[in-house]
Amino acid sequence: MTNHKDIASPIRTKEILKKHGFSLKKSLGQNFIIDSNILTKIVETAGLDKQTNVIEVGPGIGALTEHLARASKEVIAFEIDDRLLPVLADTLSPYDNVTILHNDVLQVNLKEVVGEKLDTEEPLMVVANLPYYITTPIIMYFLESALRIDALVVMMQKEVAERITAAPGSKAYGSLSIAVQYYMDAEIAFIVPKTVFVPQPNIDSAIIKLTRRETPSIEVINEAVFFEVTRAAFVQRRKTLWNNLLGKYGKEEATKEKLIEALEYAGIDPKRRGETLSLAEFGKLADGICLKLLK
Ligand code: SAM
Repeated sequence: MTNHKDIASPIRTKEILKKHGFSLKKSLGQNFIIDSNILTKIVETAGLDKQTNVIEVGPGIGALTEHLARASKEVIAFEIDDRLLPVLADTLSPYDNVTILHNDVLQVNLKEVVGEKLDTEEPLMVVANLPYYITTPIIMYFLESALRIDALVVMMQKEVAERITAAPGSKAYGSLSIAVQYYMDAEIAFIVPKTVFVPQPNIDSAIIKLTRRETPSIEVINEAVFFEVTRAAFVQRRKTLWNNLLGKYGKEEATKEKLIEALEYAGIDPKRRGETLSLAEFGKLADGICLKLLK
C-alpha cells in the first residue's frame, strides 16, 4: 500500500531534490525510484521480517531504504556520493534502525564493517536498486565475500538479469550465469518499466532473486580451475570448446594430448561450444583438466 508520506512519489522526490539543491549524477548510476508500489513488491519478494538484517547499496535519497527500515531489523546502506549524506539524514530521520555508511561499497571489507554493526549469525540479505555501471562486480563481490549472505533481491538491467539466470543452450548463457548459479538459485522475480525512475533509463530493468544454496550446485576438485575453465570456454563464443581451451592452455602437442584425455574423462565432444555445456559438464571437464593436465 502506498503511504502518502513515502519518498518514492514524483512530487515528494522533486521536493526533496529541490530542498537540498541536489542534481543527479549519471556517472554514478543515479536513477531514483518514484513509485512506491514497486518498492512494496521488492520488499515482498525479499520476504523480509523483523529478524532479518539488510545491506543496501546506494540508498540515493532513501526511497527503498525507508521500506527496508519498516520491514526488517537493521539496515546498513553504503552510499558513495557525499552530497547525499545530508539528504538522507533528513529523509530517514524517522527511522532509528538505519546506518548510512559513506563508502564505495566495492572498497569495503564487508565482513569487518558489517560485523561491527550487526550480529552476522542473524539472517542477512542484500536488497538494492543497483548502480547499473557496476552491476556485475557488485554481485560477484557479495557472492565471493567472506560474509555469508543468505539472499540478494536486486534491481538491474533486464539484459544482465537474463544472463545471470540463463540456462545452457541459450544465447544469454555464459560464465556469469555459471559463476552465480554455482553458489545461488537464481530467478527473475519481475520486470520493471522505465517509467518508475527519474530520470528514466533507456533500458528495461528487472528484479532478480538469488538464494544461497546449502552447498554449491556441483562438487569440483578445484574451484579456481572450474571458474578458469568456464571463463576460457566463452572467450570467443563462436569458437569450439577445443579452440578456446587451446587459447587458454597452449597449443603444444603434449598439452593437446592431455586436453584430449581431460575431455575424454568428462565425456565431452571437443567440437561442442561452451554455451551447450551444463554446470555439471563444466565441473567434470575442470576435474579432468586438474587430473590430466595440471596434476
Ligand atoms: N536506492 C535509490 C532508489 O532506488 O531510488 C537509488 C538507486 S540508484 C540506481 C544507485 C545509487 O547507488 C545512487 O545513489 C549512487 O550514488 C549509488 N552508488 C553508485 N556507485 C556506488 C558505489 N560504488 N558504492 C555505493 N553506492 C554507489
